[in-house]
Parts: sequence; structure tokens; C-alpha cells
Amino acid sequence: MTLSEIKHLLADRGLRPLKQFGQNFLHDQNMCRWIVDQIQPVSGARLLEIGPGLGAITEGILQTGAPLVAVEKDRGLAAILRERFDHLSNFDLREGDALDLLPELGAKENFPVVCGNLPYNVSTPLIMTMLDWPQPPRRMVFALQKELGQRLSTAPRTKDYSALSVIVQAEYTVEIVKKLPHTVFYPEPEVESAVVILQARAEPLVAAEKRQAFRALVKKGFSQRRKKLSNLIGGTDSRRAEELTVEEWAAVTPESQ
Ligand code: SAM
Repeated sequence: MTLSEIKHLLADRGLRPLKQFGQNFLHDQNMCRWIVDQIQPVSGARLLEIGPGLGAITEGILQTGAPLVAVEKDRGLAAILRERFDHLSNFDLREGDALDLLPELGAKENFPVVCGNLPYNVSTPLIMTMLDWPQPPRRMVFALQKELGQRLSTAPRTKDYSALSVIVQAEYTVEIVKKLPHTVFYPEPEVESAVVILQARAEPLVAAEKRQAFRALVKKGFSQRRKKLSNLIGGTDSRRAEELTVEEWAAVTPESQ
């Protein structure tokens, strides 16, 4: 949808972009197409889109024929999505808050690919929820706040390296593949955005049995990031949380805690 089509459609329904729902609609057609290409639906695999909005990415995904479940919280936008796509057999809209719906969706259904131009205020809890699914996604393609993209993808000894970086990178390789200019959105966001791809590792760096202990240790370590590791696990290790690679965090996690 072009910028003027979006403005007209919203005005026609008496809607306006809601800041509290993180609504910044993509209107650049080339960018929408490019994002759909990154999603690379595995043939036949079901896809999940979080926050389809007015359907900027949804439309291109549905054109590939991939079966798509889309979760949208805004009832007004959900009504528009139904008008646009309900006649397509591969479109399945679930209305509601993704934070509430995702745990059950992941418990009952399998989504190897998840995508979305995510509402910025809930991006982190949404990603963490999917990491806890019995079968976490193999590939995630998200438009995100650039700072979050940096935190997800950064290496040790950087200011953005955090518990989130370590926990996510234990299971995924993470790459910022494109910075998004403000001008591709309506309204233009105050924060900078980027497209980030999370691709599941063939083998996670932490064995499933150790995962909870690993995450707890990493969170505790970064909550006191200036302290030495010896404070956390005993011994004489004088390194600090931000100096350890993901593999090293896995190695210092005891078998059971
Ligand atoms: N995908 C559309 C696009 O690219 O134009 C809209 C993206 S906009 C950044 C975020 C979308 O997520 C909005 O449609 C908003 O209503 C929806 N949203 C916000 N919070 C949500 C939540 N907790 N659960 C589901 N959808 C949510």
C-alpha cells in the first residue's frame, strides 16, 4: 500500500496510528518486497507474522502461497486485514495480544519461520517467548529498533553485549542485514530501525538439559556486570560478564544448579 492509500484507508475508518501499539506502517513497496524475499518461506512450512498492521508484508507473503498465521492486537486493523485477505485460503488471522497468544500457539503448532515489523515496546519479550517454544522457530526476520538489533547481534567486550545477546546467540546466529531509513514508515518513528535475521544454529551451543541453568547464570552475571566471575561461580576467574563469549558462558555453567 502506498503512503496515500494508507492515509486514506485509516481516515476512512476513523483510525489513526496508535503510538501505544507501536504502529509505524511500512509504505515503501521495494522495502516490503525485499523483506518478503528475506523471509524465504520453506515450501509448505507455516509462517507466523506478528503485528501485520494493514498487511504491508502480509500481502507479499500470501502471494508466495505459504500458509500464514497472523496475530494482530488492534481490532480496527484486524477488520481491514479480513477485508483484504479473508478470501485467501492461506490466510489465518488471530486477533489478540501476541504476548498472550504466542505461548499457546507455539505449544500447539509449529512455525519454522516467524516474521514481522515488530511493535518496538514488546519485541524482546516476544522473542524470548518463542525461544521457549517446544520447537523454536528456525528463522526469524524482524524489523526492529536498531539498538535492539545491535544488542541481539553484538560480540563480547562491546557496550551492547548483554544477557540477551548471550542467550539468543546460544541458539541463533544473528545479523543486522539492513538499516531502515525513517522515511519508509508512516508515521516516521523517532527511533532508528533495522532488519535483523535470526537463523537457528544447526547445533545449539548449550545442551537442552543445561539451558535453564545457563540462562539463569548469564542473567545473574550481567546484572552485576562489573563484578568478577569469581563472585558469581567461585574460583579465581577475574574476567567480567562482558568478556566471556557465548561458548565460554556455556563452559562455565555447571551441569546442574
Ligand atoms: N506489519 C505492519 C507494517 O509493517 O506496516 C505494521 C507494523 S507496526 C510497527 C506493529 C504492528 O503490531 C501494529 O499493527 C500493531 O497494532 C501491532 N501490535 C502492537 N502490539 C501488539 C501485540 N502485543 N500483539 C499483536 N500485535 C501487536
